[in-house]
Amino acid sequence: MTQTTVLTPEQVKRYSRHIIMPQVGSKGQRNLLDAKVLIIGAGGLGSPVAVYLALAGIGTLGIVDFDVVEMSNLQRQILHREGDIGRPKVLSAQQTLAEYNSGVKVVGHEEPLTSQNAMEIISQYDIVVNGADNFAARYLVNDASYLSGKPLVDGSILLFDGQASVFVPGKGCYRCLFPTPPPPGVVPSCAEAGVLGALPGLVGSIQATETIKLVLGQGEPLVGRLLLIDALSMEFRTVKLRRNPQCPLCGDDRTINELIDYEVFCGLPAVAAVG
Ligand code: ZN
Repeated sequence: MTQTTVLTPEQVKRYSRHIIMPQVGSKGQRNLLDAKVLIIGAGGLGSPVAVYLALAGIGTLGIVDFDVVEMSNLQRQILHREGDIGRPKVLSAQQTLAEYNSGVKVVGHEEPLTSQNAMEIISQYDIVVNGADNFAARYLVNDASYLSGKPLVDGSILLFDGQASVFVPGKGCYRCLFPTPPPPGVVPSCAEAGVLGALPGLVGSIQATETIKLVLGQGEPLVGRLLLIDALSMEFRTVKLRRNPQCPLCGDDRTINELIDYEVFCGLPAVAAVG
C-alpha cells in the first residue's frame, strides 16, 4: 500500500474543515485517505455510513451487498434514488458515492457474505462496519471480524429503536451479549418489521463517527459499551459490556472455531436482559 505523504492542493481545500481540527490535522486526513473500511450492506445503515465515510475522505470503501434496489428501500436508503430501482445496490452505491467524492475508491462485493468468502473479503480491510439487516449476517460478520482481528463497528435498528457498539477483538463481541441467534420465527421477519425513515440516518451517522474516531485514534469509541437509542422518547443510554469469559467465540474456552451459516432472518434482539 502506498502511503499518502502529501495532500494535493485540492485535498487541502476539500478537507480544510478537518485539517484545521487539532484532533485531525494533515496527518489525520492522510490516515483517513489511507484507510480501508468494509461496509456490510448498502441498505438503511450502510447508506449513511457510506456517504459520510466517502465525504470524510476514507480512501477505500468496500461494500458487500447482492440485493437490487426496490421501491420500498427509498423510504430510508439514501444511497439509492427512484432511477435506481431494479439496479444492483452495489452499482447504485458506487455511482452515488463517486458523485459525492470522486477521490474515493469504492470496491463492490456483489455477493452474499458467507462462511466461504467472509474471511477473504474482510482481510482486505482495516475496519468492518455492520449494516446487516438479519441475524445470519450479524453473527457471521461478528465471528469473521473477531477471527480476522479487525474492529467491528456494529449497529442495528428496528421500529423506533437503535443500538450501536464497537467490538475490538479481546474486548468483547456480539456473542458476549447474545451467544447464539434466537430461533427463526421468534423475531419479526424483514418484511413484517418496520423501521422509521430517519432512524438509520441517526444510527448510521454514529457508526460513521465511531469509524472515523478509530482511524484517527481519537476519543473514546463505544468499546465495552452498548448505546441504546429510543427515538420515540429520544433517550440515549449506554450500558457497560464486558468480555464474557463464557462467550463461545471470544471467551476462555472457545467453542466456535469456524464460521457458521445460519438461516437468514431479521429483527433486533431484546436488550432488557443487559439492563
Ligand atoms: Zn465474545
